[in-house]
Amino acid sequence: MQVKKQLLSLKPYQPGKPIEEVKKEFNLTKVVKLASNENPYGCSQKAKQAILDELDQLAIYPDGYSALLRTKVANHLGVNEDELIFGNGSDEVVQIICRALLSSETNTVMATPTFPQYKHNAIIEGTEIREVPLVDGDHDLDAMLNQIDENTTVIWVCTPNNPTGTYVKKQALLEFLDKVPKHVLVVVDEAYYEYVAAEDYPETVPLLKDYSNVMILRTFSKAYGLAALRIGYGIGNADLIRKIEPAREPFNTSRVAQAAAIAALDDLDFISNCKEKNKKGLQQFYKFCEEQGLDYYPSEGNFILIDFKRDSDEVFGALLKKGYIVRSGNALGFPTHLRITVGSEEQNAEIIEILKEFVLN
Ligand code: PMP
Repeated sequence: MQVKKQLLSLKPYQPGKPIEEVKKEFNLTKVVKLASNENPYGCSQKAKQAILDELDQLAIYPDGYSALLRTKVANHLGVNEDELIFGNGSDEVVQIICRALLSSETNTVMATPTFPQYKHNAIIEGTEIREVPLVDGDHDLDAMLNQIDENTTVIWVCTPNNPTGTYVKKQALLEFLDKVPKHVLVVVDEAYYEYVAAEDYPETVPLLKDYSNVMILRTFSKAYGLAALRIGYGIGNADLIRKIEPAREPFNTSRVAQAAAIAALDDLDFISNCKEKNKKGLQQFYKFCEEQGLDYYPSEGNFILIDFKRDSDEVFGALLKKGYIVRSGNALGFPTHLRITVGSEEQNAEIIEILKEFVLN
């Protein structure tokens, strides 16, 4: 059997280790997962009720067009319904964009390190990948612009960037968008949008009127706490969305996910509460880093990348044995860092206590 040759160089996505697996492996009763930037407070009660209410409908296919959710999100954002595309997580929107715009005749530009699924999907499409190193954790937008040529079809901007948590400032984004040629789609991945507190973080949705070559990605997996239901979306020019829609599976988002997402948008207090607690959680980590003299990137997401100045697999493995699952920086392009999801105040305090053992003086 001959599979596409580019698949042979890829591994399936390596997710954070599952809690049950770690409990079994290390004979632990309590395991805390701070590895996949999930919401430690779960999801809104309204979303949970909507999920229960949907259970009688499981024999019926979902609405492939997500019409009710579409109306809800369009009103929430102040965009037209035809400016939205829904995916099985924003992961799937990334895949759809790649299927629709990348081929062996094109190239695509992205930062490195950044969210790995842009590159993964681009490899599958057989496209040329042009990676531009981050500078001090930030996207080097000028260097990215320099990589664009007539065959470039997509350029990826992850803000806040996973795994650094850094963001692209408003002025820098505007100057960048003014310079990107119109034949290039700029994908602005805002998976952590709801957590951002920085005042100069750009509101990108109003920019869509002026920049028809921008697509914004958002998700219900992070602040909304619905990662298991797999639902995210893209916001962009209606004509472009119409053209890429055929690359979407017919029933790609589930009935339960659509219902939960609609209800979640009715509980914005839940989101502001989580945002507030996340901000305080980040402060716990900043204080720890500053007291211990550790380098870190100030984060606008619900995670923090900390440099322990030693092999990150070593620290990762030792934490795992104690029941804390985090993300080793080795797989993320930061071999001496750990990426830790901000947990509850208590979880943060516990892991910080343990981490003190790993500080090299
Ligand atoms: N973009 C970024 C930057 C992410 O960190 C993630 C999840 N880790 C995603 C997209 C995908 O999220 P989901 O598919 O759950 O919406």
